[in-house]
Amino acid sequence: MLKRTKIVATLGPASHSEAVILKLIQAGVDVVRLNFSHGQPNDHIERAKIVRKLSQENNKHIAILGDLQGPKIRIKQFKNQEVLLKSGHIFQLSLTIHPKKGDEKGVGITDKNLIQDCKINHILLLDDGNIKLKVASKTKETLTCKVIYGGILSDNKGINLEGGGLSTAALTEKDKKDIKLAAKINVDYLALSFVRNPDDILLCRQLFKKAGGQGGILAKIERAEVVASQEKLKAIIQVSDAVMVARGDLGVEIGDAALVAVQKNMIKTARDMNCPVITATQMMDSMINKSQPTRAEVFDVANAVLDNTDAVMLSAETAAGKHPSNVVKAMHRITQVTEKNTKDIAIPLEKKQLILTSSDQTIAVSAMYAANHLAEVKGLICFTKSGQTALWMSRINSILPIFAFSHSVQTCRRMALYRGVHPLQWQETSESLEEREHILKAHLKRLRFKKKDKFIITFGSTHKITNTLQLFEL
Ligand code: PEP
Repeated sequence: MLKRTKIVATLGPASHSEAVILKLIQAGVDVVRLNFSHGQPNDHIERAKIVRKLSQENNKHIAILGDLQGPKIRIKQFKNQEVLLKSGHIFQLSLTIHPKKGDEKGVGITDKNLIQDCKINHILLLDDGNIKLKVASKTKETLTCKVIYGGILSDNKGINLEGGGLSTAALTEKDKKDIKLAAKINVDYLALSFVRNPDDILLCRQLFKKAGGQGGILAKIERAEVVASQEKLKAIIQVSDAVMVARGDLGVEIGDAALVAVQKNMIKTARDMNCPVITATQMMDSMINKSQPTRAEVFDVANAVLDNTDAVMLSAETAAGKHPSNVVKAMHRITQVTEKNTKDIAIPLEKKQLILTSSDQTIAVSAMYAANHLAEVKGLICFTKSGQTALWMSRINSILPIFAFSHSVQTCRRMALYRGVHPLQWQETSESLEEREHILKAHLKRLRFKKKDKFIITFGSTHKITNTLQLFEL
């Protein structure tokens, strides 16, 4: 059985070499993430080159996702790289402290907005929530805080405001440079961090296009105020080509326990709006060091599969961990076995609220209905230019594979993210139906299908738009 849920792996120092990236691809990676928060431009260029080369050599379409750092507020540096903050002590965050000379009394910050936005008694979470401070007093330049939970605090750690609401700009100067880098690399998706509203996405898309970028724009949902308003969330999804449940920063802002319902709502909302969705962060965290996932991690990945996420993502596990390809193998095993053992959970199409808005969408949805209800159908085949038909098909739950043929390699890469979709490049230029049937049969035989196997096939008889559905027998 072909795996349906896609795997995103972040590349980093632990997965920089061609040998490791090859192992990741062989283990089941569909999308690689280049995290612009870390590393130098040349590292990302080099990794992207390797991915494109291996993808071609292994005949597998892999999407590249560039991830902008975004306006994350961070502390500056300490004289000795780190300090031990003791609970109950006072610690200052200040614009006046030298950026490299922090100590146990305080550390520098560069963002004025943090001071403006914070009020007395507000809670600040540093280092992904490991350190908690309460604002005791403030001046125009300094927040004086009481340490609620202490610990080791090292250089450049991130700061979140509990409950969200920090008013930073959408794109930093670094992001603007990285947008140009992403366009140069020709990423298939560009992720924007800390998205506040649809305008952030529109601005990012405009700059990316201006730089020559052709990929889709992905919204990382990680602000408390976005998930607090279904209207805001929907408005962002509406203008995005994909979204990510970015559970790291989001969990710090809204609290870990609130994440569960938010993840489920976000996946459902995105899928209902025909948008692909990635579930990210700490999915297999213990495997950064260990060779096996914990039972809780197995359940976390499986739950995201049952929630119908398009993809599950690995961060430090593959970027900096000790067992990059084993993590992917474990994730592949969990997704595949979960899909196999829970196939009855698929929601029947008739229970889904659907408003069809075009003839090609109608064909796509009808094809899924027919395939899900007609005995012995082995899969769907769609011929698609932009990938839109495959995207619509993959919004409908099914255990059947969707083989999506496109002339465009860019479309094939983009479709690598869609749940249940197997992108294949259609090289042939002849428009003759007989010829297409002949070539299609050869493709399906290569995929180990047998004579008499049935498929539902969709294509555009006018070459412009998908308007035809056929039952096809091998
Ligand atoms: C997250 O916060 O969950 C996330 C995916 O973002 P990053 O890894 O860039 O911090």
